Amino acid sequence: MQNKNSLFLGLFFLIAIGAFQSYGQKKSKEDSGDDLKTSPKLVVGIVVDQMRYDYITRFWNHFDEGGFKRLVNEGFNCKNNHFNYAPTSTGPGHTSVYTGTTPATHGIIGNDWYDKQTDKEVYCASDDSYASVGTTSDAGQMSPHRMNVTTITDQLRLHNQMRGKTIAVALKDRGAVLPGGHTANAAYWFHGANEGNWITSTYYMKELPKWVADFNSSDQVEQYKKPWTTAKQINTYMESGSDNNTYEGMLDGEATPTFPHNLPKLWDNNGKYNILKVTPFGNSITADFAIAAIDGEELGKDLVTDFLAISFSSTDYVGHFYGVNSKEIQDTYIRLDADLRRLFKTLDKKVGKEDYTVFLTADHGAINVPSYLKDQKIPAGYIEFDSIKSKFAEFLQYKFGTTDIIKSFSNYQYFLDHKVIKNLDIKVPDAQEIIAKELLSYSGVDRVYTGQQMWQNNYTEGIPYILQNGYNQKRSGDVLIVLKPGVISYPRTGSTHGSPQIYDTHAPLLFYGKGIQHGSTNQRTEIPDIAPTLAALLGIAFPNGTTGRPIVEVLE
Ligand SMILES: [Zn+2]
Repeated sequence: MQNKNSLFLGLFFLIAIGAFQSYGQKKSKEDSGDDLKTSPKLVVGIVVDQMRYDYITRFWNHFDEGGFKRLVNEGFNCKNNHFNYAPTSTGPGHTSVYTGTTPATHGIIGNDWYDKQTDKEVYCASDDSYASVGTTSDAGQMSPHRMNVTTITDQLRLHNQMRGKTIAVALKDRGAVLPGGHTANAAYWFHGANEGNWITSTYYMKELPKWVADFNSSDQVEQYKKPWTTAKQINTYMESGSDNNTYEGMLDGEATPTFPHNLPKLWDNNGKYNILKVTPFGNSITADFAIAAIDGEELGKDLVTDFLAISFSSTDYVGHFYGVNSKEIQDTYIRLDADLRRLFKTLDKKVGKEDYTVFLTADHGAINVPSYLKDQKIPAGYIEFDSIKSKFAEFLQYKFGTTDIIKSFSNYQYFLDHKVIKNLDIKVPDAQEIIAKELLSYSGVDRVYTGQQMWQNNYTEGIPYILQNGYNQKRSGDVLIVLKPGVISYPRTGSTHGSPQIYDTHAPLLFYGKGIQHGSTNQRTEIPDIAPTLAALLGIAFPNGTTGRPIVEVLE
Protein backbone atom coordinates (compact mmCIF):
# COMPACT_ATOMS: atom_id res chain seq x y z
CA MET A 1 0.00 0.00 0.00
CA GLN A 2 2.79 2.34 1.02
CA ASN A 3 4.59 1.55 -2.23
CA LYS A 4 1.54 2.13 -4.34
CA ASN A 5 0.89 5.50 -2.75
CA SER A 6 4.42 6.67 -3.22
CA LEU A 7 4.33 5.46 -6.81
CA PHE A 8 1.24 7.58 -7.50
CA LEU A 9 2.74 10.50 -5.66
CA GLY A 10 5.94 10.12 -7.64
CA LEU A 11 4.03 10.00 -10.94
CA PHE A 12 2.05 13.05 -9.94
CA PHE A 13 5.20 15.05 -9.33
CA LEU A 14 6.82 13.86 -12.51
CA ILE A 15 3.81 15.03 -14.48
CA ALA A 16 3.49 18.21 -12.42
CA ILE A 17 6.99 19.28 -13.26
CA GLY A 18 6.49 18.33 -16.86
CA ALA A 19 9.09 15.57 -16.85
CA PHE A 20 7.32 13.46 -19.46
CA GLN A 21 10.55 12.75 -21.17
CA SER A 22 12.34 11.04 -18.32
CA TYR A 23 9.23 8.98 -17.60
CA GLY A 24 9.18 7.87 -21.21
CA GLN A 25 12.80 6.85 -20.99
CA LYS A 26 12.11 4.85 -17.89
CA LYS A 27 9.38 2.87 -19.62
CA SER A 28 11.41 1.89 -22.60
CA LYS A 29 14.25 1.02 -20.25
CA GLU A 30 12.04 -1.50 -18.49
CA ASP A 31 10.98 -3.00 -21.82
CA SER A 32 14.56 -3.54 -22.88
CA GLY A 33 15.69 -5.03 -19.58
CA ASP A 34 18.07 -2.12 -18.97
CA ASP A 35 16.54 -1.68 -15.54
CA LEU A 36 18.85 -4.44 -14.39
CA LYS A 37 21.42 -1.77 -13.85
CA THR A 38 21.95 1.97 -13.70
CA SER A 39 25.08 3.20 -15.37
CA PRO A 40 25.98 6.71 -14.33
CA LYS A 41 29.03 8.11 -16.09
CA LEU A 42 30.58 8.80 -12.73
CA VAL A 43 30.06 7.70 -9.13
CA VAL A 44 31.34 10.17 -6.57
CA GLY A 45 31.94 8.80 -3.09
CA ILE A 46 32.36 11.46 -0.43
CA VAL A 47 33.59 10.64 3.06
CA VAL A 48 33.62 13.50 5.54
CA ASP A 49 36.14 12.66 8.24
CA GLN A 50 34.61 12.81 11.75
CA MET A 51 31.16 13.97 10.64
CA ARG A 52 28.35 13.45 13.15
CA TYR A 53 24.84 13.01 11.77
CA ASP A 54 23.53 15.95 13.81
CA TYR A 55 25.78 18.41 11.96
CA ILE A 56 23.24 18.24 9.14
CA THR A 57 20.42 19.39 11.39
CA ARG A 58 22.53 21.66 13.62
CA PHE A 59 24.01 23.74 10.81
CA TRP A 60 21.08 23.38 8.38
CA ASN A 61 19.99 27.02 8.53
CA HIS A 62 23.48 28.14 7.57
CA PHE A 63 23.72 25.91 4.54
CA ASP A 64 22.95 27.44 1.16
CA GLU A 65 21.14 25.67 -1.64
CA GLY A 66 23.30 23.38 -3.71
CA GLY A 67 25.49 21.63 -1.10
CA PHE A 68 24.21 19.48 1.76
CA LYS A 69 20.70 20.80 1.08
CA ARG A 70 20.80 19.54 -2.48
CA LEU A 71 21.68 16.02 -1.30
CA VAL A 72 18.97 16.02 1.37
CA ASN A 73 16.23 17.82 -0.58
CA GLU A 74 16.67 15.90 -3.82
CA GLY A 75 18.34 12.69 -2.68
CA PHE A 76 17.87 10.07 0.01
CA ASN A 77 18.70 10.63 3.67
CA CYS A 78 19.43 7.65 5.95
CA LYS A 79 18.96 9.42 9.26
CA ASN A 80 19.75 6.50 11.53
CA ASN A 81 22.97 5.27 9.98
CA HIS A 82 25.66 3.67 12.12
CA PHE A 83 29.05 2.13 12.27
CA ASN A 84 28.38 -1.41 13.46
CA TYR A 85 31.90 -2.08 14.69
CA ALA A 86 34.64 -0.57 16.80
CA PRO A 87 37.25 0.91 16.73
CA THR A 88 35.54 3.82 15.00
CA SER A 89 38.54 5.42 13.37
CA THR A 90 39.65 6.60 9.94
CA GLY A 91 41.32 3.49 8.50
CA PRO A 92 38.54 1.06 9.46
CA GLY A 93 35.93 3.69 8.53
CA HIS A 94 37.03 4.26 4.95
CA THR A 95 37.62 0.56 4.46
CA SER A 96 34.20 -0.46 5.76
CA VAL A 97 32.43 2.12 3.59
CA TYR A 98 34.10 0.80 0.46
CA THR A 99 34.24 -2.95 1.22
CA GLY A 100 30.73 -3.41 2.60
CA THR A 101 32.04 -5.23 5.62
CA THR A 102 33.76 -4.72 8.97
CA PRO A 103 37.27 -5.16 10.42
CA ALA A 104 36.36 -8.75 11.38
CA THR A 105 36.47 -9.49 7.65
CA HIS A 106 38.49 -6.76 5.91
CA GLY A 107 41.30 -6.79 8.46
CA ILE A 108 41.82 -3.03 8.91
CA ILE A 109 41.37 -3.14 12.69
CA GLY A 110 42.66 0.36 13.41
CA ASN A 111 44.70 3.19 11.98
CA ASP A 112 47.64 1.48 13.65
CA TRP A 113 47.74 -1.80 15.47
CA TYR A 114 50.09 -4.21 17.12
CA ASP A 115 50.88 -6.92 14.60
CA LYS A 116 51.04 -10.31 16.32
CA GLN A 117 53.01 -11.96 13.51
CA THR A 118 55.87 -9.47 13.34
CA ASP A 119 55.68 -8.22 16.94
CA LYS A 120 55.59 -4.65 15.61
CA GLU A 121 53.21 -1.72 15.48
CA VAL A 122 51.92 -1.35 11.90
CA TYR A 123 50.11 1.46 10.08
CA CYS A 124 47.01 0.54 8.05
CA ALA A 125 48.23 1.94 4.71
CA SER A 126 52.03 1.82 4.97
CA ASP A 127 54.06 -0.34 2.62
CA ASP A 128 57.81 0.14 2.42
CA SER A 129 58.07 -2.06 -0.66
CA TYR A 130 56.94 1.02 -2.61
CA ALA A 131 58.54 4.43 -3.00
CA SER A 132 57.18 7.96 -2.82
CA VAL A 133 56.14 9.82 -5.94
CA GLY A 134 56.04 13.62 -5.85
CA THR A 135 57.86 14.11 -2.57
CA THR A 136 61.37 13.77 -1.20
CA SER A 137 59.89 12.40 2.03
CA ASP A 138 58.78 8.81 2.70
CA ALA A 139 55.14 9.93 2.92
CA GLY A 140 54.34 8.20 -0.36
CA GLN A 141 55.28 4.68 0.78
CA MET A 142 51.72 3.41 0.87
CA SER A 143 49.52 0.68 -0.57
CA PRO A 144 46.25 -1.06 0.31
CA HIS A 145 47.98 -4.42 0.93
CA ARG A 146 46.70 -4.84 4.50
CA MET A 147 43.09 -4.71 3.28
CA ASN A 148 42.12 -8.36 2.79
CA VAL A 149 39.10 -7.95 0.51
CA THR A 150 37.92 -6.05 -2.56
CA THR A 151 36.22 -2.67 -2.58
CA ILE A 152 33.23 -1.46 -4.59
CA THR A 153 35.79 0.45 -6.67
CA ASP A 154 37.62 -2.83 -7.40
CA GLN A 155 34.39 -4.56 -8.38
CA LEU A 156 33.46 -1.77 -10.78
CA ARG A 157 36.88 -1.97 -12.43
CA LEU A 158 36.62 -5.77 -12.70
CA HIS A 159 33.11 -5.54 -14.10
CA ASN A 160 34.18 -3.13 -16.83
CA GLN A 161 37.38 -4.99 -17.73
CA MET A 162 39.42 -2.15 -16.22
CA ARG A 163 37.98 0.30 -18.77
CA GLY A 164 36.46 2.54 -16.10
CA LYS A 165 38.74 4.65 -13.93
CA THR A 166 39.08 4.89 -10.18
CA ILE A 167 40.69 8.01 -8.76
CA ALA A 168 40.89 8.55 -5.00
CA VAL A 169 41.72 11.87 -3.33
CA ALA A 170 42.18 12.91 0.32
CA LEU A 171 44.48 14.97 2.52
CA LYS A 172 45.16 11.79 4.50
CA ASP A 173 46.92 8.93 2.73
CA ARG A 174 44.61 6.30 4.25
CA GLY A 175 41.57 8.37 3.21
CA ALA A 176 42.61 7.86 -0.42
CA VAL A 177 44.50 4.55 -0.50
CA LEU A 178 41.80 2.39 1.11
CA PRO A 179 38.76 3.71 -0.84
CA GLY A 180 40.71 3.37 -4.09
CA GLY A 181 40.98 -0.36 -3.50
CA HIS A 182 43.62 -2.62 -4.99
CA THR A 183 42.96 -1.61 -8.58
CA ALA A 184 42.78 2.19 -8.40
CA ASN A 185 44.36 4.03 -11.31
CA ALA A 186 45.58 6.50 -8.73
CA ALA A 187 45.24 7.56 -5.13
CA TYR A 188 46.56 11.01 -4.26
CA TRP A 189 47.08 12.57 -0.86
CA PHE A 190 48.52 15.79 0.49
CA HIS A 191 51.98 16.18 1.90
CA GLY A 192 52.17 19.31 4.05
CA ALA A 193 55.31 20.24 5.99
CA ASN A 194 57.71 22.19 3.75
CA GLU A 195 56.18 20.98 0.49
CA GLY A 196 52.40 21.44 0.28
CA ASN A 197 52.03 19.06 -2.65
CA TRP A 198 49.75 16.26 -3.81
CA ILE A 199 51.69 13.01 -3.86
CA THR A 200 51.27 9.28 -4.45
CA SER A 201 53.06 5.92 -4.33
CA THR A 202 54.89 3.80 -6.92
CA TYR A 203 52.12 1.28 -6.20
CA TYR A 204 50.13 3.37 -8.71
CA MET A 205 52.64 5.03 -11.01
CA LYS A 206 56.26 5.97 -11.65
CA GLU A 207 55.70 9.71 -11.85
CA LEU A 208 52.93 12.23 -11.36
CA PRO A 209 50.79 12.93 -14.41
CA LYS A 210 51.15 16.38 -15.92
CA TRP A 211 47.89 17.70 -14.46
CA VAL A 212 49.05 16.86 -10.92
CA ALA A 213 52.51 18.32 -11.47
CA ASP A 214 50.85 21.45 -12.90
CA PHE A 215 48.55 21.67 -9.90
CA ASN A 216 51.52 21.38 -7.54
CA SER A 217 53.50 24.07 -9.30
CA SER A 218 50.52 26.46 -9.44
CA ASP A 219 49.58 28.76 -6.55
CA GLN A 220 46.36 26.80 -5.90
CA VAL A 221 47.51 25.75 -2.43
CA GLU A 222 49.48 28.92 -1.71
CA GLN A 223 46.34 31.07 -1.94
CA TYR A 224 45.09 29.57 1.34
CA LYS A 225 48.04 30.92 3.30
CA LYS A 226 45.85 33.70 4.67
CA PRO A 227 44.06 34.50 7.94
CA TRP A 228 41.18 32.16 8.78
CA THR A 229 38.17 34.33 9.50
CA THR A 230 34.59 33.08 9.71
CA ALA A 231 32.76 32.77 6.38
CA LYS A 232 29.71 34.54 7.83
CA GLN A 233 29.34 37.00 10.71
CA ILE A 234 30.51 35.14 13.82
CA ASN A 235 27.58 36.48 15.87
CA THR A 236 25.23 34.54 13.59
CA TYR A 237 26.92 31.28 14.66
CA MET A 238 24.36 30.52 17.35
CA GLU A 239 24.80 26.75 17.00
CA SER A 240 28.19 26.57 18.70
CA GLY A 241 29.75 27.61 22.03
CA SER A 242 31.56 30.85 22.76
CA ASP A 243 34.70 31.43 20.71
CA ASN A 244 36.97 31.84 23.73
CA ASN A 245 36.83 28.88 26.13
CA THR A 246 39.00 26.28 27.80
CA TYR A 247 37.78 23.30 25.76
CA GLU A 248 39.79 24.08 22.64
CA GLY A 249 43.36 23.51 21.61
CA MET A 250 45.59 26.48 20.87
CA LEU A 251 47.99 26.92 17.98
CA ASP A 252 51.57 27.67 18.92
CA GLY A 253 51.79 31.47 19.06
CA GLU A 254 48.15 32.20 19.86
CA ALA A 255 47.07 33.64 23.23
CA THR A 256 43.43 32.58 22.85
CA PRO A 257 41.74 29.95 20.65
CA THR A 258 39.76 32.63 18.87
CA PHE A 259 39.16 34.02 15.39
CA PRO A 260 40.85 35.23 13.30
CA HIS A 261 43.55 32.57 13.13
CA ASN A 262 46.45 34.33 11.47
CA LEU A 263 47.96 31.50 9.43
CA PRO A 264 50.80 33.46 7.80
CA LYS A 265 51.99 34.54 11.26
CA LEU A 266 51.51 31.08 12.78
CA TRP A 267 52.92 29.25 9.76
CA ASP A 268 56.49 28.45 10.83
CA ASN A 269 55.67 27.35 14.37
CA ASN A 270 52.79 25.07 13.38
CA GLY A 271 54.20 22.75 10.75
CA LYS A 272 54.05 25.15 7.77
CA TYR A 273 51.71 23.59 5.17
CA ASN A 274 50.42 21.20 7.85
CA ILE A 275 48.60 24.10 9.51
CA LEU A 276 46.22 24.17 6.53
CA LYS A 277 44.93 20.72 7.52
CA VAL A 278 43.59 22.13 10.82
CA THR A 279 41.50 24.69 8.93
CA PRO A 280 38.61 24.41 6.46
CA PHE A 281 41.10 25.40 3.76
CA GLY A 282 42.35 21.81 3.78
CA ASN A 283 38.91 20.78 2.53
CA SER A 284 38.92 23.54 -0.08
CA ILE A 285 42.31 22.34 -1.32
CA THR A 286 40.82 18.84 -1.56
CA ALA A 287 37.84 20.14 -3.53
CA ASP A 288 40.17 22.12 -5.82
CA PHE A 289 42.21 19.01 -6.47
CA ALA A 290 39.17 16.76 -6.99
CA ILE A 291 37.82 19.25 -9.51
CA ALA A 292 41.19 19.28 -11.27
CA ALA A 293 41.06 15.46 -11.33
CA ILE A 294 37.71 15.48 -13.14
CA ASP A 295 39.37 17.36 -15.99
CA GLY A 296 42.82 15.85 -15.71
CA GLU A 297 41.60 12.24 -15.71
CA GLU A 298 38.60 12.91 -17.98
CA LEU A 299 36.25 11.36 -15.43
CA GLY A 300 32.67 10.74 -16.52
CA LYS A 301 33.46 11.51 -20.14
CA ASP A 302 32.46 8.21 -21.75
CA LEU A 303 29.78 5.60 -21.11
CA VAL A 304 31.95 3.36 -18.92
CA THR A 305 31.32 4.28 -15.30
CA ASP A 306 34.25 5.94 -13.49
CA PHE A 307 34.62 6.35 -9.74
CA LEU A 308 35.91 9.41 -7.91
CA ALA A 309 36.49 8.76 -4.21
CA ILE A 310 36.94 11.96 -2.20
CA SER A 311 37.60 12.24 1.50
CA PHE A 312 37.49 15.55 3.33
CA SER A 313 39.96 15.19 6.20
CA SER A 314 40.10 18.71 7.68
CA THR A 315 36.80 18.22 9.50
CA ASP A 316 38.62 15.59 11.60
CA TYR A 317 41.69 17.73 12.32
CA VAL A 318 39.49 20.67 13.30
CA GLY A 319 37.27 18.45 15.47
CA HIS A 320 40.26 16.96 17.28
CA PHE A 321 41.74 20.37 17.89
CA TYR A 322 38.73 22.55 18.72
CA GLY A 323 35.96 20.08 19.59
CA VAL A 324 32.53 19.42 18.11
CA ASN A 325 30.91 22.42 19.83
CA SER A 326 33.39 25.05 18.62
CA LYS A 327 32.87 28.04 16.36
CA GLU A 328 35.72 26.58 14.34
CA ILE A 329 33.82 23.37 13.61
CA GLN A 330 30.71 25.35 12.67
CA ASP A 331 32.69 27.49 10.25
CA THR A 332 34.39 24.39 8.85
CA TYR A 333 31.01 22.84 7.95
CA ILE A 334 29.64 26.09 6.52
CA ARG A 335 32.72 26.27 4.31
CA LEU A 336 32.54 22.57 3.42
CA ASP A 337 28.97 23.19 2.28
CA ALA A 338 30.31 25.83 -0.12
CA ASP A 339 33.00 23.43 -1.36
CA LEU A 340 30.36 20.75 -2.01
CA ARG A 341 28.27 23.28 -3.91
CA ARG A 342 31.26 24.11 -6.06
CA LEU A 343 31.99 20.42 -6.66
CA PHE A 344 28.40 19.59 -7.67
CA LYS A 345 28.26 22.59 -10.01
CA THR A 346 31.39 21.32 -11.72
CA LEU A 347 29.91 17.82 -12.01
CA ASP A 348 26.71 19.29 -13.53
CA LYS A 349 28.78 21.05 -16.12
CA LYS A 350 31.47 18.47 -16.89
CA VAL A 351 29.60 15.19 -16.45
CA GLY A 352 25.98 16.27 -16.81
CA LYS A 353 23.27 16.85 -14.24
CA GLU A 354 21.56 13.51 -14.81
CA ASP A 355 24.67 11.45 -15.33
CA TYR A 356 26.31 11.03 -11.96
CA THR A 357 25.53 9.40 -8.62
CA VAL A 358 26.81 10.64 -5.27
CA PHE A 359 26.94 9.25 -1.77
CA LEU A 360 28.13 11.14 1.27
CA THR A 361 28.96 9.58 4.60
CA ALA A 362 31.62 9.72 7.33
CA ASP A 363 34.36 7.47 8.63
CA HIS A 364 33.25 7.89 12.27
CA GLY A 365 31.49 10.37 14.54
CA ALA A 366 32.93 12.15 17.59
CA ILE A 367 32.28 12.89 21.25
CA ASN A 368 31.48 16.31 22.65
CA VAL A 369 34.45 17.52 24.73
CA PRO A 370 34.07 15.73 28.10
CA SER A 371 35.39 18.69 30.10
CA TYR A 372 32.61 20.79 28.55
CA LEU A 373 29.98 18.11 29.26
CA LYS A 374 31.19 17.91 32.87
CA ASP A 375 30.71 21.64 33.26
CA GLN A 376 27.13 21.10 32.09
CA LYS A 377 26.67 18.49 34.89
CA ILE A 378 26.68 15.62 32.41
CA PRO A 379 28.57 12.50 33.50
CA ALA A 380 31.79 12.53 31.47
CA GLY A 381 35.50 12.48 31.99
CA TYR A 382 38.92 11.16 31.18
CA ILE A 383 40.87 8.00 31.85
CA GLU A 384 44.66 8.15 32.21
CA PHE A 385 46.12 4.85 31.12
CA ASP A 386 49.48 6.04 32.40
CA SER A 387 48.14 6.43 35.92
CA ILE A 388 46.59 2.95 36.02
CA LYS A 389 49.78 1.48 34.58
CA SER A 390 51.55 1.05 37.92
CA LYS A 391 48.51 -0.42 39.65
CA PHE A 392 48.03 -2.79 36.72
CA ALA A 393 51.71 -3.77 36.77
CA GLU A 394 51.49 -4.49 40.50
CA PHE A 395 48.52 -6.74 39.86
CA LEU A 396 50.25 -8.62 37.04
CA GLN A 397 53.34 -9.12 39.19
CA TYR A 398 51.27 -10.41 42.09
CA LYS A 399 49.05 -12.67 39.98
CA PHE A 400 51.49 -14.01 37.37
CA GLY A 401 54.89 -13.13 38.79
CA THR A 402 55.69 -11.13 35.66
CA THR A 403 54.48 -8.12 33.70
CA ASP A 404 55.78 -9.68 30.48
CA ILE A 405 52.41 -11.30 30.01
CA ILE A 406 51.25 -8.03 28.34
CA LYS A 407 52.73 -7.64 24.86
CA SER A 408 50.96 -4.52 23.73
CA PHE A 409 47.95 -2.27 24.11
CA SER A 410 46.30 -0.75 21.05
CA ASN A 411 42.78 0.28 20.07
CA TYR A 412 41.52 -0.51 23.59
CA GLN A 413 42.73 -4.09 23.34
CA TYR A 414 45.42 -5.82 25.37
CA PHE A 415 47.57 -8.28 23.48
CA LEU A 416 48.96 -11.05 25.69
CA ASP A 417 52.16 -13.00 25.22
CA HIS A 418 50.89 -16.52 24.63
CA LYS A 419 54.36 -18.01 25.11
CA VAL A 420 54.67 -16.49 28.57
CA ILE A 421 51.19 -17.77 29.42
CA LYS A 422 52.12 -21.25 28.24
CA ASN A 423 55.28 -21.24 30.36
CA LEU A 424 53.18 -20.27 33.38
CA ASP A 425 51.06 -23.32 32.68
CA ILE A 426 47.87 -21.27 32.49
CA LYS A 427 45.21 -21.56 29.80
CA VAL A 428 44.95 -18.48 27.55
CA PRO A 429 41.19 -18.00 28.17
CA ASP A 430 41.83 -18.10 31.92
CA ALA A 431 44.56 -15.49 31.68
CA GLN A 432 42.27 -13.33 29.52
CA GLU A 433 39.48 -13.53 32.08
CA ILE A 434 41.67 -12.79 35.10
CA ILE A 435 43.08 -9.70 33.39
CA ALA A 436 39.68 -8.57 32.12
CA LYS A 437 38.20 -8.70 35.62
CA GLU A 438 41.07 -6.64 37.02
CA LEU A 439 40.64 -3.97 34.33
CA LEU A 440 36.92 -3.78 35.02
CA SER A 441 37.70 -2.57 38.55
CA TYR A 442 39.37 0.60 37.23
CA SER A 443 37.29 3.76 37.14
CA GLY A 444 36.30 4.85 33.66
CA VAL A 445 36.17 1.25 32.41
CA ASP A 446 32.58 0.23 31.77
CA ARG A 447 32.79 -3.26 30.31
CA VAL A 448 35.37 -5.87 29.43
CA TYR A 449 35.29 -8.77 27.00
CA THR A 450 37.80 -11.47 26.23
CA GLY A 451 39.08 -12.75 22.91
CA GLN A 452 37.60 -16.10 23.94
CA GLN A 453 34.13 -14.52 24.16
CA MET A 454 34.59 -12.98 20.72
CA TRP A 455 35.47 -16.43 19.34
CA GLN A 456 32.74 -18.40 21.03
CA ASN A 457 29.62 -16.27 20.84
CA ASN A 458 27.52 -14.79 18.11
CA TYR A 459 26.42 -11.39 19.34
CA THR A 460 23.52 -9.85 17.47
CA GLU A 461 23.05 -6.47 19.14
CA GLY A 462 24.46 -3.83 21.42
CA ILE A 463 28.07 -3.16 22.38
CA PRO A 464 29.27 -6.81 22.12
CA TYR A 465 27.87 -7.00 18.57
CA ILE A 466 29.82 -3.86 17.68
CA LEU A 467 33.00 -5.22 19.26
CA GLN A 468 32.65 -8.56 17.53
CA ASN A 469 32.27 -6.92 14.10
CA GLY A 470 35.54 -5.13 14.83
CA TYR A 471 37.23 -8.29 16.02
CA ASN A 472 39.50 -9.99 13.53
CA GLN A 473 40.59 -13.43 14.73
CA LYS A 474 43.99 -13.22 13.11
CA ARG A 475 44.77 -9.64 14.10
CA SER A 476 42.83 -8.60 17.21
CA GLY A 477 43.80 -8.80 20.87
CA ASP A 478 43.04 -10.85 23.98
CA VAL A 479 41.21 -8.46 26.28
CA LEU A 480 38.87 -5.71 25.07
CA ILE A 481 37.84 -2.80 27.23
CA VAL A 482 35.01 -0.34 26.73
CA LEU A 483 35.05 3.01 28.51
CA LYS A 484 31.96 4.53 30.07
CA PRO A 485 29.85 6.68 27.75
CA GLY A 486 31.32 10.18 27.92
CA VAL A 487 34.76 9.00 28.99
CA ILE A 488 37.81 9.18 26.73
CA SER A 489 41.56 8.79 26.92
CA TYR A 490 42.58 12.14 25.47
CA PRO A 491 43.86 15.64 26.34
CA ARG A 492 41.40 18.02 28.03
CA THR A 493 40.76 19.97 24.83
CA GLY A 494 39.16 18.87 21.59
CA SER A 495 37.06 15.87 20.57
CA THR A 496 37.98 12.34 19.65
CA HIS A 497 36.40 9.02 18.59
CA GLY A 498 37.17 5.31 18.39
CA SER A 499 34.62 3.88 20.81
CA PRO A 500 31.54 1.70 20.16
CA GLN A 501 29.34 4.41 21.75
CA ILE A 502 26.55 5.99 19.77
CA TYR A 503 28.21 9.41 19.39
CA ASP A 504 31.01 7.66 17.50
CA THR A 505 28.74 5.39 15.45
CA HIS A 506 25.97 7.73 14.28
CA ALA A 507 27.03 9.20 10.94
CA PRO A 508 25.29 10.74 7.93
CA LEU A 509 24.46 8.71 4.86
CA LEU A 510 23.10 10.61 1.87
CA PHE A 511 22.58 9.34 -1.67
CA TYR A 512 21.89 11.58 -4.62
CA GLY A 513 21.66 11.52 -8.40
CA LYS A 514 21.20 8.92 -11.08
CA GLY A 515 19.24 5.88 -9.93
CA ILE A 516 18.48 7.33 -6.48
CA GLN A 517 15.02 7.80 -4.98
CA HIS A 518 14.06 10.96 -3.20
CA GLY A 519 13.21 10.25 0.40
CA SER A 520 14.49 9.43 3.85
CA THR A 521 14.35 6.72 6.44
CA ASN A 522 14.60 6.45 10.20
CA GLN A 523 15.20 2.71 9.95
CA ARG A 524 18.65 1.72 11.11
CA THR A 525 21.16 1.34 8.30
CA GLU A 526 24.77 0.36 8.75
CA ILE A 527 27.97 1.49 7.09
CA PRO A 528 28.60 -1.88 5.37
CA ASP A 529 25.25 -1.42 3.56
CA ILE A 530 26.71 1.36 1.39
CA ALA A 531 28.85 -0.77 -0.94
CA PRO A 532 26.15 -3.40 -1.64
CA THR A 533 23.62 -0.60 -2.23
CA LEU A 534 25.94 0.83 -4.88
CA ALA A 535 26.60 -2.65 -6.30
CA ALA A 536 22.84 -3.21 -6.61
CA LEU A 537 22.44 0.17 -8.30
CA LEU A 538 25.26 -0.51 -10.76
CA GLY A 539 24.24 -4.12 -11.30
CA ILE A 540 27.70 -5.40 -10.47
CA ALA A 541 29.13 -8.03 -8.11
CA PHE A 542 29.36 -7.21 -4.43
CA PRO A 543 32.83 -6.72 -2.91
CA ASN A 544 34.06 -10.18 -1.97
CA GLY A 545 33.80 -9.78 1.80
CA THR A 546 30.41 -8.02 1.83
CA THR A 547 28.33 -8.54 4.95
CA GLY A 548 26.03 -5.51 4.57
CA ARG A 549 22.76 -5.45 2.64
CA PRO A 550 21.49 -3.14 -0.08
CA ILE A 551 19.24 -0.40 1.30
CA VAL A 552 16.39 -1.03 -1.14
CA GLU A 553 14.44 2.17 -0.38
CA VAL A 554 17.32 4.21 -1.76
CA LEU A 555 17.12 2.73 -5.24
CA GLU A 556 14.74 3.79 -7.97
ZN1 LIG B 1 40.18 11.48 14.06
